[in-house]
Amino acid sequence: MQENDPLIIKCTEIREKGTLKLAVVPALSFFMDAFSTPETLKSLRVELTFSVVDGPILMEGRVNVEMHLECARCAAPVTSTFSDSFDELYPDTVEYIDARELIRETAALLVPLKVVCSESCKGRCPQCGIELNKESCSCVMDKSLPFRALEKFAVKKDTPPKGGGKPKK
Ligand SMILES: [Zn+2]
Ligand SMILES: [Zn+2]
Repeated sequence: MQENDPLIIKCTEIREKGTLKLAVVPALSFFMDAFSTPETLKSLRVELTFSVVDGPILMEGRVNVEMHLECARCAAPVTSTFSDSFDELYPDTVEYIDARELIRETAALLVPLKVVCSESCKGRCPQCGIELNKESCSCVMDKSLPFRALEKFAVKKDTPPKGGGKPKK
């Protein structure tokens, strides 16, 4: 039954009390598909406050979402927390308030365009693909360098893989 979901609230209950505050940690299954991968959503916490405004019911909510993301530069896993608030007015003809859809929309909009594991993340070398946070390479990065033509001879030869075992060139 619908009534079993903590995010579907019976309006008579709100009216009896005049105001109602809820803190819910819902099951993630309903919300996962709002994200690009089901693994993105790590945890979700919702705070809801209901108050009766001359008949209609005002719902004010806040979602706190913890997400598993990937660093845009080095692809390392990054866990970040985001939050946002929303509100909605429900007419007095409504019997139940289903907050789930609004929470899902709000949570989905919190996905950032990109994250970095740290502002100083060096990412990968665009030429050899090495992870520059962990090791350094001898690729010539500065295209304006006047001695590049000369240095080319020194760096062109493949450096042997350090720490070994990456089959990718
Ligand atoms: Zn990174
Ligand atoms: Zn490189």
